[in-house]
Amino acid sequence: MEKVHVIGAGLAGSEAAYQLVKRGIGVVMHEMRPLKMTPAHQTGHFAELVCSNSFRSNSEENAVGLLKKEMEYLDSLIIKQAYLNQVPAGSALAVDRLAFSSGVEVCLRNHPLIEIRTEEVVSIPNEPTIIATGPLTSPDFLQAIASFCGNEFFHFYDAVAPIVLASSIDFSKAYWKSRYDKGEAAYINCPLTEEEFHAFYDFLIHAQQNLPHDFEYQVFEGCMAVEEMAKRGEKTLLFGPMKPVGLEHPETKVRPYAVVQLRQDDFSKSMFNVVGFQTQLKWPEQKKLLQMVPGLTNCEIVRYGVMHQNTYLDSPHILYSTYQTKKRADLFFAGQITGVEGYIESAASGMMAGINMAKLLTSEPLVTFSKQTGLGTLAHYISSPNTNFVPMNVNFGLFEELSGRIRKQDRKKLYKERSLNELERMKERL
Ligand SMILES: Cc1cc2nc3c(=O)[nH]c(=O)nc-3n(C[C@H](O)[C@H](O)[C@H](O)COP(=O)(O)OP(=O)(O)OC[C@H]3O[C@@H](n4cnc5c(N)ncnc54)[C@H](O)[C@@H]3O)c2cc1C
Repeated sequence: MEKVHVIGAGLAGSEAAYQLVKRGIGVVMHEMRPLKMTPAHQTGHFAELVCSNSFRSNSEENAVGLLKKEMEYLDSLIIKQAYLNQVPAGSALAVDRLAFSSGVEVCLRNHPLIEIRTEEVVSIPNEPTIIATGPLTSPDFLQAIASFCGNEFFHFYDAVAPIVLASSIDFSKAYWKSRYDKGEAAYINCPLTEEEFHAFYDFLIHAQQNLPHDFEYQVFEGCMAVEEMAKRGEKTLLFGPMKPVGLEHPETKVRPYAVVQLRQDDFSKSMFNVVGFQTQLKWPEQKKLLQMVPGLTNCEIVRYGVMHQNTYLDSPHILYSTYQTKKRADLFFAGQITGVEGYIESAASGMMAGINMAKLLTSEPLVTFSKQTGLGTLAHYISSPNTNFVPMNVNFGLFEELSGRIRKQDRKKLYKERSLNELERMKERL
């Protein structure tokens, strides 16, 4: 049987390759790093997390938690490695980023059906191919994709948050706690008084930004730079990343006016990332800003926040809900480039593209789930006509409505039951 070219060993490409080889299909993986780096990746590892180390909520009654459950049920490599390399993060699933990506890489490198080529791909192979080169696809390859698709690409901007050294945090001011004491005390909290918050806010909205070349402000709402969020008003921060509710000081029981939270970034607890503080401020301004926060006055930043262009296809014109291209049956796309947004969503689309490529090569009907599942919801979103097609995280608003009169408190439980029932029914076919 023909081997499949999987281009890009990110979240989507790694998952797609795993789904193929576990079905007995050989894979040639092409990854350009570390030979050629993207503007955001920092290592040569597969499945590198470019910004946050969190895979978001772990509750199955939350859409992204449910999507994880579905993927776990279908034996996802990304989810398996996430749980193996988990670090404390309250009700979220967060990982030691290096251990996680090494885990994914080792699994694929050691697989006898996978051949790995460290190279930049610049043209689309004529053999069966899954393109999973992500939002930072190299410019030459983007050109090849553009001439294949014959369509315009869309862009928006995504920012990353700074990471600070744990040993530089002042624990006479900062304290450990998870919001509402859910789970263990997993976050470091730096409390601000009203006066401190106002000074911080004032600095933030006037600080100098590092705007990318040809910058046109179109950002993804879910990953908006903290300074842009702040310009919408003080309350946006106080109800957003600096929300103090449920974060009362463990000893004094006093609720601060605002809080900056930091989440563990590695197993050894040596690095912490500043939650929700993705930013495009100039580096000296980032330092001054963070050092205004009690507990961070001497903080050492090991990775500064930066902003990057994020590219995606006009998928409703190009793809079916199986992630197969309309123009060429043995060519699929997967990952953020298809217009799904987020680590888990990218891996989920890689899973479906991998499963469907395997179906195609074994002459079985391709699989699509219904909008009663997170996997199906995303696939329908990227392939349905949409004049305002923007990248989308999984959310219950995209799911098929529940029928009948349902009590509000039962809704999320029913979403979960419905989705897992469908997977159970489909198990044989998968
Ligand atoms: C700056 C930034 C910050 C983000 N922050 C977050 C976040 O905090 N949380 C979140 O959930 N999502 C975030 N995202 C969105 C998205 O979830 C990630 O980008 C995710 O990594 C997408 O997965 P992917 O597999 O599609 O792409 P990637 O993980 O980027 O993988 C694509 C791979 O293809 C390789 N590649 C590119 N071109 C070529 C080529 N021509 N030949 C060979 N290899 C190539 C790249 O080196 C890369 O390894 C962020 C995106 C950006 C750009």
